[in-house]
Amino acid sequence: MIDDLAALARQVMRLLELGRTNRQQAEMLNDLDQTREKLAVLAATDPLTGLANRRAFSALLKQHHQQLTSRSEPASLLMIDIDYFKQLNDDYGHQVGDDALLHFARLARNVFRATDTIGRWGGEEFLVLLPNTDADRALVVAERLRSTLACTPVPTPAPQPTMTVSIGLVELSTTRSLSATLKRLDDTLYQAKQGGRNQTRVAI
Ligand code: GH3
Ligand code: MG
Ligand code: MG
Repeated sequence: MIDDLAALARQVMRLLELGRTNRQQAEMLNDLDQTREKLAVLAATDPLTGLANRRAFSALLKQHHQQLTSRSEPASLLMIDIDYFKQLNDDYGHQVGDDALLHFARLARNVFRATDTIGRWGGEEFLVLLPNTDADRALVVAERLRSTLACTPVPTPAPQPTMTVSIGLVELSTTRSLSATLKRLDDTLYQAKQGGRNQTRVAI
């Protein structure tokens, strides 16, 4: 009888231990999932601005372009390049240059909708994908960002510089490949630069 009770007690102890191990395992798996999610976000994010990095933006753009059909909603793409940014770095220092990039990212997040994606394409060059937006509507938003930037100094210790951007705009099309679209966008941005900067040009 005493032996039976002792065996029963041992079994209960084992079950309790098993329960604890299972709970610990579930917690570890949960931690692992959270770490995986954080890593995926980090891998897709530009560390300075917190915007989508080039790799993540490219993947999204490719997917969006592939899903376009002739009957789907229009979508627009902007290429934004800060004007005379090298000069700003030279005049005010690299730290102010970094502050200016952050300032741009903050203003852009305010101007664009949550469904738009802003990506850092290169040093001081950004792409924005505006789903469900034709060129006319995208132009209004692009101009809002451009004019807001031009009159909002970079929040750094005085003297606070202001900066301007030049913007190229193209509407996505099922009949134009993505690489041709990007080439066209690049050409349009170049025209905005040649035209005197601080302006938006629409691809025709
Ligand atoms: P443009 O009006 O023709 O666009 O002239 P720009 O000076 O803006 O263009 P350019 O390509 O000559 O210079 C870009 C500068 O951007 C050079 C580089 O040092 C600076 N830059 C790129 N990435 C960063 C960054 O992360 N931080 C800072 N502070 N500067 C950067
Ligand atoms: Mg530039
Ligand atoms: Mg550039």
